[in-house]
Amino acid sequence: MKILVINAGSSSLKYQLINVENKDVLAKGNCERIGIDGRFKHKTGDGRGFEREVALPDHRAAFRLVIEALTTGEFAVIGSTSEIDAVGHRIVHGGDKFTHSVLVTDEVLKEFQGVINFAPLHNPPALSGIEACRETLGKAVPNVMVFDTAFHQTMPPQAYIFGVPYKYYEQYRVRRYGAHGTSHRYVSLRCAELLGKKPEETKIVTCHLGNGSSISAVDAGKCVDTSMGFTPLGGIIMGTRSGDLDPSVVTFIMEKEGISPRDMENLLNKESGFIGISGISSDDRDLEEATAKGIERSKIAQDAQRYQIKKLVGAYSAAMGGLDALVFTGGIGENSSLLRAAVCENMEYLGITFDPAKNEETIRGKEGDLSLPGGKVRVYVIPTNEEYMIALDTKTLVG
Ligand code: AMP
Repeated sequence: MKILVINAGSSSLKYQLINVENKDVLAKGNCERIGIDGRFKHKTGDGRGFEREVALPDHRAAFRLVIEALTTGEFAVIGSTSEIDAVGHRIVHGGDKFTHSVLVTDEVLKEFQGVINFAPLHNPPALSGIEACRETLGKAVPNVMVFDTAFHQTMPPQAYIFGVPYKYYEQYRVRRYGAHGTSHRYVSLRCAELLGKKPEETKIVTCHLGNGSSISAVDAGKCVDTSMGFTPLGGIIMGTRSGDLDPSVVTFIMEKEGISPRDMENLLNKESGFIGISGISSDDRDLEEATAKGIERSKIAQDAQRYQIKKLVGAYSAAMGGLDALVFTGGIGENSSLLRAAVCENMEYLGITFDPAKNEETIRGKEGDLSLPGGKVRVYVIPTNEEYMIALDTKTLVG
């Protein structure tokens, strides 16, 4: 079964055509700078392809181009659109209306309108992506929506409620939603496989660490807590995002500097985290270099992120009443042996053991077990695969 996976951002549309039976990626690519000028990259599974500047006025135009590249010319991988069995869409925010992936119908799209403003930069383009698919491929090709928030919908109220008047939860649904749910779900399922157990028999902390980062507690296959909050701004220090703060820091800076809510939101999302603390870069590799050269603010930024992750591993183990495995994924989680070593240092009291040699060699897309034989808690690196998870959900829903 061939599933087209679509991930539409505010000015981009990424895609992968996946053969879901054998996980093969037949083609993938990205339309960038939609609504600005437009750039289109397309690659076949064996690495051939092209990159070109092309006018991309909107998501519909981008989607038409994707279909053209998949079906015609030198780098086509299918003969016609009839080979696309279904389309799976990544949706950033489903509020508390969507607890699972769903098959798209007119009704579902109407319901989605009720949560569209939870992710004003991401949900509207995702909807455009769905509309473009339905127009171009016709309603006979089913579409499925896979929500980044859905996996976290099993959190109990004690984990999702914020300490503000309850009426804001009732009126505006202000609560913790989390993000990266598809990734946390994928790596926790894979982790259970590696442990040789059913998901119901496991207690796992999953660390998705990239430009955006979040940590989840997955007890018996269900998310019971996660670090991101109402939006993906919450949680640990990230590339450009502040993560959790004493809320009065926000009002204090706004008053001192005369900053509007919109500008403050921008400051917390784009000018904080690694870039804000270090003043050097939002990229962990740049900070690695700077820290090695002895630049103090770079070291503080990295140490702070690692310390926050370590604290959450402890907190989530306490929340679940135990820990079977700790999983690292995402660009930093899969590649930074220094971060993994720092997080796992002095954690023997929890049953975490750590093999430095395995840690060094498990990078660049490799899966591996970093713990010592006999260690009570396994420490895994599991490269995430959100697109495959989306394709799998799509297959399940369309039968
Ligand atoms: P992602 O958002 O998952 O693509 O991850 C991007 C982050 O991963 C950036 O901060 C990169 O610097 C980081 N990253 C990628 N490769 C490495 C590496 N070899 N060592 C440390 N960080 C890395």
